[in-house]
Amino acid sequence: MVLIVQKYGGSSVAGTDRIRHVAERVVATHREGHDVVVVLSAMGDTTDELLDLARQFTPLPNPRELDVLCTAGERISNALAAIAIRALGERACSLSGPQAGVFTTAEYGNAQIVEVSPQRIRRELDRGAIVLVAGFQGLNRDTDDITTLGRGGSDTTAIALAAALKADVCEIYTDVDGVYSADPRIVPNAALLDHITYEAMQEMAAAGSKVLALRSVEYARRCGVPIHVRSSFGDKPGTLVSASTDHLGTEQSTITGVAHDLSGAKVTVTGVPNHPGTVGRLVRAVADAGGEIDMVVQNAVRPAGGRTDVTFVLPREGALVALAALRETHAEIGFEEVSHDADVGKVSVIGTGMRAGSGATATFCETLAAAGVNVEIMSMSEIGISVLCRSGQVADAVRALHTAFDLDTTEAAPVHAVTGR
Ligand code: ADP
Ligand code: ASP
Ligand code: MG
Repeated sequence: MVLIVQKYGGSSVAGTDRIRHVAERVVATHREGHDVVVVLSAMGDTTDELLDLARQFTPLPNPRELDVLCTAGERISNALAAIAIRALGERACSLSGPQAGVFTTAEYGNAQIVEVSPQRIRRELDRGAIVLVAGFQGLNRDTDDITTLGRGGSDTTAIALAAALKADVCEIYTDVDGVYSADPRIVPNAALLDHITYEAMQEMAAAGSKVLALRSVEYARRCGVPIHVRSSFGDKPGTLVSASTDHLGTEQSTITGVAHDLSGAKVTVTGVPNHPGTVGRLVRAVADAGGEIDMVVQNAVRPAGGRTDVTFVLPREGALVALAALRETHAEIGFEEVSHDADVGKVSVIGTGMRAGSGATATFCETLAAAGVNVEIMSMSEIGISVLCRSGQVADAVRALHTAFDLDTTEAAPVHAVTGR
């Protein structure tokens, strides 16, 4: 018997009509003779709305209580879907993350899954039930507290359950037809990919393509879980994310796509005394404050003894905390000032073989120039080229690069109006 894990994102369960549609799809899969485990996100923008409610009391709500609050969103959608499935005449059982045996680290708001004990799920499956598991949550055994897995965490729940249950596939249903060469909301002529390797998907997700949460792709790659990204609004075949099938190898460059990320902020420390240890001290201060550094740039034009500027790019929510932590090092380090800028975005061309001298960097820069996009930070690696620019110029940069790197198709990608997480 085939065991399928199906995950439906917030936009796919945004209202009762959408939940009924999901219930019908799940029941149809079950009636084909498969065991089905379903992971649902919270309805529509519920998580954002819950966070907004909490922030009406204080800008920094207590993290433990925030997790208790936010996990309710996923329990509501799961229970409603179970009710809808039962109304269609099938057995269904909805479980919270802890009930489903999802155990995590203790960190509120961004816990990591450490263990999945799926006995309860198995028992329910053996009874012939469709099992629904609330995504994005688990339990820490030491604190006995409920935790959340970070934004987009239901993808990770689905993959972790698929791995623990040795499911044949993990299907991720969303509001676009699959993984594209760029966000189809920005590039109407983005190309739908039939297949993408874990590695390439990891790079796209790390660079901001939120169609799959980065941690879910890493998890799937480690455990060898095949992911099938599909639309919950239609029946298109979608995109398969799995290990590379190309064993021939090639040295030619392959461009996967263009990704963008509007979730970062830039924090700059100017006039830092340029001698060994100062930058390390700044990086340590940011790391100790929990800042997940995405880019760090230092450019010392003059030799040691002069002064240098250091720029960090990190998630917007963590930037203010990092700013405060950097300010605290002022007396010790003696820099000139620290500034903060949240009006930035990052655009990346993802692909292999784009080494310096290959011409790709020149094409990248010339394309941005022609689109009137000013480069603030640029970085190159084996997996691509990224630029930091004004957030308002991101869409233009994505479109221009998509065209310049020959990724446009002639067919317009269908995009559904609803968005969620
Ligand atoms: P869900 O609510 O299903 O979890 P998300 O909003 O998290 O959905 O992710 C789906 C969205 O990801 C799409 O609506 C699309 O705008 C965006 N996206 C960004 N990059 C890509 C890409 N390369 N391919 C497909 N979708 C992408
Ligand atoms: N509801 C959570 C979020 O909005 C988790 C998820 O949907 O994956 O981030
Ligand atoms: Mg998502």
